[in-house]
Amino acid sequence: MIPFSPPHIDQKIIDEVVDTLKSGWITTGPKTKRFEKELTAYNGNKATLCLNSATAGLEIMLRWFGVTAGDEVILPAYTYSATANVVVHCGATPVFVDVCSDFNICIPEIAKAITPKTKVIMPVDFGGYPCDYDAMMHLVNDPAIKKMFQPKTKEQEMLGRIMILSDAAHSIGAWYKGKRTGALTDVSVFSFHAVKNLTTAEGGAIALNFPAPFDNEEIYKYLCIKTLHGQNKDALAKTIPGNWRYDIVEAGFKMNMTDIMASIGLVELERYDREILPARKAIFEAYTAAFSSEDWAIIPEFKNDIKCSSYHLYPLRIKGATEQQRDAIIALIFEKQVSVNVHFIPVPMMSYYSGRGYSINNYPRTFAMYVNEISLPVYVDLTPDKVNAVVRAVKDAFTAIMQSNF
Ligand SMILES: *Cc1c(COP(=O)(O)O)cnc(C)c1O
Repeated sequence: MIPFSPPHIDQKIIDEVVDTLKSGWITTGPKTKRFEKELTAYNGNKATLCLNSATAGLEIMLRWFGVTAGDEVILPAYTYSATANVVVHCGATPVFVDVCSDFNICIPEIAKAITPKTKVIMPVDFGGYPCDYDAMMHLVNDPAIKKMFQPKTKEQEMLGRIMILSDAAHSIGAWYKGKRTGALTDVSVFSFHAVKNLTTAEGGAIALNFPAPFDNEEIYKYLCIKTLHGQNKDALAKTIPGNWRYDIVEAGFKMNMTDIMASIGLVELERYDREILPARKAIFEAYTAAFSSEDWAIIPEFKNDIKCSSYHLYPLRIKGATEQQRDAIIALIFEKQVSVNVHFIPVPMMSYYSGRGYSINNYPRTFAMYVNEISLPVYVDLTPDKVNAVVRAVKDAFTAIMQSNF
C-alpha cells in the first residue's frame, strides 16, 4: 500500500530525540527556545512562539486580540474545521466566504463580508500556496474599512484595523514577493502535525510580525505566560537556585511545546530547504507532467511570477465528475493499493456547522471544487516508481468510472 503522508523518521531524528531524553530536560527548555530562534531566522518575521498545535496558536491569537461574543471572524469555507472551531471557542461568529480557483479565500468575497463587527480575517494558504497578502493588507487599510472598525480592547485600538491572522498550517517555506509566509502579514500560525511538511509529531508555531508600535518581543513574552497557566515563570526559570516563587497573573492555558517535540523540528528545519522542499517539488512536477496531457484533469496552480507553494497538497480535480463519481474513483484508487484523500470537506457541510444554520449553497465555488477534488500522496520517501504507480492508479480509476458510460 502506498500511504498518503507517512512521517520521515530517520536516525538523525532518533539521535536528536534520544539526546533530549538523556539531557535531563524533556519539557519546554533550551531546544524549544533554539527552535523558535531558528524559525524566526528562517521565516524572516519578528518573533516566534512554539506551541503544542496550530489550533492552540490560532485560538490564543484570537484571545490575545480580545475576540469575543458579538464579534465576527472572516474565513474561507474551504478549510479544515480547526480554523472555524477556534472562532467558536472564543464565542465569536465564523463568517465563511467562498474561495477562488486557486483554492484560496477570494478577496472580493472578503470585502463583501466585512461589517462593523469584523475583528479578524483568517486566510488559509491552501495546500501551501500563499494567499494574496498585498491585496488583503490593502483591503484592511482602506480608509472606509478602517473607519468601520470598532476597537474594544487596547490591542484592537493600537492596530486600528482588522487583524489578519494567517492559517499557515500548510505553508511553511512558501514565498510571496520574495518573503516567506511568516513575514507576510500581522501574524501567521504554522502546524507541525504528523502529516504536515515539517513535523514535530504534534506542534505548531505563532510567527509574530505586527507593525509598529507593537513590540513583538513583548507580545512573545506575554504569550509565553498566557500559554502556560498565566504563570509568570516557566519550569526552566524556576530551576534557577532560589527562584522557586511564582505567581499566576491570569487564568491561562496549557499549550507549550516540549523539547522532545522541538528536537524533531530542529532536524526537520535544518534540512527543510535542502532536502524536503526539493523532494516535494519534484513530485508536484511529476504529477503535473503526467496529468497535463489529460483533458479531464484540472491541474492545481502552485507557482506563478510572484509566489510559490511549499508543495504541501497536490489537489487534482476531475473535470465534470460528480461527488459520487469522485468517491467511486477514490474507492478504485484504494483498491489499487494507493492512498488518497479529499481536502477538505468544506466546513459548512459538517453537521455541527450545518446544524447552526450554515449552508454550502452559499459557497458555490467551494462546493464545485470539493466535489471533484482528489489529493494525491506527496512525501519525501515517495520514489519515482511510486509516483508512477499513483499516476497509473488514478488514470485507470478515471477510465473505469468516467468512461464506462460511453
Ligand atoms: C492541520 C491544520 C490545522 C491544525 O493544525 P494542528 O497543528 O493539528 O492544530 C489548521 N488549519 C489547517 C488548514 C490545517 O490543515
